[in-house]
Amino acid sequence: MIIRALDDLGRVVIPKEMRRILAINAGDEIAISLVDGKVVFEKYTSVCFICNSEHDVQLHNKAHLCGDCRDRLAPPMVYSFPIKTVTQRIVKTIKITQYFLELALQPSPEVFYQI
Ligand SMILES: [Zn+2]
Repeated sequence: MIIRALDDLGRVVIPKEMRRILAINAGDEIAISLVDGKVVFEKYTSVCFICNSEHDVQLHNKAHLCGDCRDRLAPPMVYSFPIKTVTQRIVKTIKITQYFLELALQPSPEVFYQI
């Protein structure tokens, strides 16, 4: 047992050896709870909101999600077309649209004969 004094603000230092054993590092979150009249400090590990996994959990849109669930919710956008190909497709689409517009705007012989 290690005895430590609280400071004026109620803080106490967790002994370095205990932090090492529990792999607690500066910046880690510590869960503090009251159990049977005792204050319990535990290393807080986030679990995935969806599958309860503790692996690669990160805050994603206000919810803790593991890597797999993040990928399932928002698969990475992969653009496989080079810019040149995309531009060629756009130009081709415009040409086809122009072709059909010209066809539609031409007076058809049937309309001519109906008059
Ligand atoms: Zn998950």
